[in-house]
Amino acid sequence: MKYNPVTEEILAELREIVGDKNVMTDEEKIEAYSHDEIPAEQYAHMPEVVLTPNTAEEIAAVMKLANRELIPVTPSGARSGLSGGAIPEHGGIVISVENMDEVVEIDYDNLMMVLEPGVITNNVNEMLEESGLFFAGYPMSVETCYLGGNIAENAGGGKAVKYGVTGRYVMGLEVVTPTGEIVQLGGKRVKDVTGYDLKQLIVGSEGTLGIVTKAIIKLLPKPTQRVGLLALFKDEATAISTVPKIMTEGRIIPTSIEFMDKLSVKTSCEYLNEHLPYQEAGAMLLIEVDGNKEDIVNADSETIGELCLDNDAIEVYVADNHTTRERIWSVRRNIAEAFKVVSPHQSLEDIVVPTANIPKLMPYLDDISEKYEIKVPCYGHAGDGNLHATLVKNPDHSMEEWFEIEEEALADLYQATKELGGTLSGEHGIGSKRKKYMEMMMSPAELNLMRGIKKAFDPNNIMNPGKIFDLE
Ligand SMILES: Cc1cc2nc3c(=O)[nH]c(=O)nc-3n(C[C@H](O)[C@H](O)[C@H](O)COP(=O)(O)OP(=O)(O)OC[C@H]3O[C@@H](n4cnc5c(N)ncnc54)[C@H](O)[C@@H]3O)c2cc1C
Repeated sequence: MKYNPVTEEILAELREIVGDKNVMTDEEKIEAYSHDEIPAEQYAHMPEVVLTPNTAEEIAAVMKLANRELIPVTPSGARSGLSGGAIPEHGGIVISVENMDEVVEIDYDNLMMVLEPGVITNNVNEMLEESGLFFAGYPMSVETCYLGGNIAENAGGGKAVKYGVTGRYVMGLEVVTPTGEIVQLGGKRVKDVTGYDLKQLIVGSEGTLGIVTKAIIKLLPKPTQRVGLLALFKDEATAISTVPKIMTEGRIIPTSIEFMDKLSVKTSCEYLNEHLPYQEAGAMLLIEVDGNKEDIVNADSETIGELCLDNDAIEVYVADNHTTRERIWSVRRNIAEAFKVVSPHQSLEDIVVPTANIPKLMPYLDDISEKYEIKVPCYGHAGDGNLHATLVKNPDHSMEEWFEIEEEALADLYQATKELGGTLSGEHGIGSKRKKYMEMMMSPAELNLMRGIKKAFDPNNIMNPGKIFDLE
């Protein structure tokens, strides 16, 4: 597809639509919109112009212009993404929703909230603190990411094992389509089977089918009791094999079951200057249970603790107050950041397998580590089979060698994942980073259905082109 450049005449029209101060062309300012949180530079790409509109109507007018002139448009949130989704691969216009950060309504009677897409996800639960309600579908990058980005990625997080991911909480969306229509999808209705569920099609579509300009999200009563457990195991296999047993033998669905291997815990602890007793352990599970009855929550956490010990845990620590829970969670939350500091050349992966198959995945990671002489630390949301195996460059390898190794090791990792009934990404999405592996995972028939949907929404292929799959 050949796109047209953003000329001075087009810039003048854009200034008319969104206002002078919401048009950025200065290279130093727009550089920040050329990348997300993937550390690898090869995915970065400069936009020609960045717009920060204030309304859906402005975005709709920009989309009409972009269609007329065949200019690519990339929606951008907080750019905390880990798949290159918000990177303008073909240049053109970036539409950042950073100015659209209003809380439109908190509807206590219907347990719903209406928000603009630029609201920082962390602020949602802070605003609800006094109400006894909470938004359960958020990721672990809450402090930086926006709600719109979470919806576009169908983000999941530490609590997905019990509460599910963002999509479960999206009741309604206002969306500007690639052709510049403003549509209202879904609404404050708990049930709705009126036609195709276009709202859920937008969820997880990575900004390729439209720009979310408003969202109605479902809230839940916030549990009053929480207990965290930190279980230390001698090795990864023993820790991971305990995960399915918590649900099958313990008959408990915890709020979270996070897995961290030794290298991940060590790297994060050193980064935070935290002194957890990780030296003794080859792997750790961070398990949390919540509910409204203290005795039930305590009984569940005791059952899980005993089950861990029966499965050869070296030690189980209980964190039943906010400060200790935060200490442990902070180690888990900061692993990705810590690795970036230690090693800028790495590929943070997001594979997902059926939970019962997690133990079978670990030997494959050891094989990859041995075959390519690289470190493959692994951590993640073990309770839902979603693991962040990370390929880390060996300092002895040249960059050329690393690029080759990365590509081959990723192919091996995805092949192993596929053999275990898994897939490429559980929460970070495909974007530009994982696009070339889609054919390995999906049949031609599936890919063609997706291409047909893309063409129906975006006949000129101007909205976030080059992401997820190629049209040809
Ligand atoms: C330290 C760290 C921890 C993380 N932890 C998690 C985690 O636990 N779970 C998880 O799921 N992810 C996690 N992520 C990844 C990332 O934070 C999520 O993918 C998040 O949802 C991205 O939101 P964002 O606002 O930064 O979106 P961006 O990165 O800006 O964009 C992501 C995608 O959404 C599209 N988009 C953005 N806004 C809109 C909109 N309004 N309408 C349509 N499309 C839009 C973009 O085009 C792009 O394709 C983590 C990232 C980091 C750096």
